[in-house]
Amino acid sequence: MLELKRQPFAGRLVMIGYGSIGRGVLPLLLRHIDLEPSRILLICPSDAAFEAHQQFAVQVEQQALTEDNFHACLEPRLNAGDFLLNLSVQVSSQALLAFCQARGALYLDTCTEPWPGGYDSDRQTPQACTNYALRHGILALRGSRDTATSILTHGANPGLVSHLVKHALENLAVDLGHAQPACASREDWAQLAQTLGIKAIHIAEYDSQFSSLRKQPGEFVNTWSVDGFIAEACQPAELGWGTHESALPADARRHPTGSQAAIYLQRPGAATQVHTWTPGTGATLGFLVTHSESISIAEYLTLGEGAHPHYRPTVHYAYRPCDDALLSLHELAARHWQAQPRQRLLDDDIVGGRDELGVLLMGHAKNAYWYGSTLTIEEARSLCPHNSATSLQVTAAVMAGVIWAMKNPRRGILEPDELPHREILQMCDPYLGELRGFYTDWTPLGSTSEDTDNATGDDPWQFRHVRFG
Ligand code: NAD
Repeated sequence: MLELKRQPFAGRLVMIGYGSIGRGVLPLLLRHIDLEPSRILLICPSDAAFEAHQQFAVQVEQQALTEDNFHACLEPRLNAGDFLLNLSVQVSSQALLAFCQARGALYLDTCTEPWPGGYDSDRQTPQACTNYALRHGILALRGSRDTATSILTHGANPGLVSHLVKHALENLAVDLGHAQPACASREDWAQLAQTLGIKAIHIAEYDSQFSSLRKQPGEFVNTWSVDGFIAEACQPAELGWGTHESALPADARRHPTGSQAAIYLQRPGAATQVHTWTPGTGATLGFLVTHSESISIAEYLTLGEGAHPHYRPTVHYAYRPCDDALLSLHELAARHWQAQPRQRLLDDDIVGGRDELGVLLMGHAKNAYWYGSTLTIEEARSLCPHNSATSLQVTAAVMAGVIWAMKNPRRGILEPDELPHREILQMCDPYLGELRGFYTDWTPLGSTSEDTDNATGDDPWQFRHVRFG
């Protein structure tokens, strides 16, 4: 394994939350950052945090942050130059980020979370429950670039996948006989994607991990946050909306403000399936669960402005969760989206399987290209304790983002697409198992692209073909 130099850090690191990602990232941070455990403070309401104190000697405060108490709780603990790492659920990312900007503290999260009730469709319009609206609210905090670095949504997806898209574009350019690209700006990347003929991009993930105890009736089982997954699965499905699309779906809505890079569907992501492809399994169905990368990548790769740009690919998540999570979603739908009474996180009890997480670039001269990480549970455990294949893809990217922010402490508010992809991928690479690309002749129409073009004259990469049912 590549030996990374330990990053010095003189400040204090406050970590919020110690669930599947918090547990997995702590040993990685201690491995790669030169930081005394006594300068790490874990704030978390669950007893699990005391394990961290016993095992790693970090400080622990058992507390749930709320809209009313977060200011008083964080103010004495975070000064300019300290780091706030937000790995919780139901704690507003926008509130914590604004606090850190005002205080001069560094910040990183893996998801744009609202306070409890923020996704509640009984109290809010569907539009207000979208990631588009949440992201818009956070990006409105951007002022001068010369403020403390705050990195938004830097896990695996969102996060790592933005870097995989850039690497995949570079590989594709070379394989299609273009000169080695040297993209220096957002426009250069968008130009490259257009030149290569990319019409659609899936964040295509297949999680096949399982434990010997199968899902029981009345429980939701998953390989990462059950609360987090139920929340996003019930949000409206969202996708970056490409310029090659010939018709807006009947249940689609546009947003009244902002870049217009994405649309949302008037149905939950957990009720919206899409055809996709991953290398280990081939053709599969995934859920079009909303994620901020669907919006940020689509926006980043746009040429032109407003509702009618010159170029933009369609971008969305196509998530095939582990078998027991699939059954859990089925039961959740039958319960009219009311959460099951019990939940179970698969971690130390996983006995097999892997997570394939990559980006599928479609519509170019070689049809479709998947580039990403295939990581087995055995590899994940041997690489870092307290991790599954799913969590290690996330925690490696968290660790890389934290180190990049420590090295670059005055860069303002940044999304993953704005970070240097090679530097981040180099830090993540030792933890991603097999990181490589695969070409495929798969299309959502179920036969090769040549056959489908000849048979129907239709464009196989229209969203109406990708959508199932
Ligand atoms: P989890 O549900 O396993 O753990 C959440 C943690 O937050 C728990 O320790 C819980 O006690 C704590 N918490 C809950 N309410 C809190 C409060 N009010 N104040 C402080 N702490 C509180 O979740 P996880 O799987 O560890 O995920 C953590 C975050 O990372 C979630 O927002 C999730 O959506 C996100 N995530 C992102 C990615 C990605 O790739 N970008 C992947 C997985 C998870």
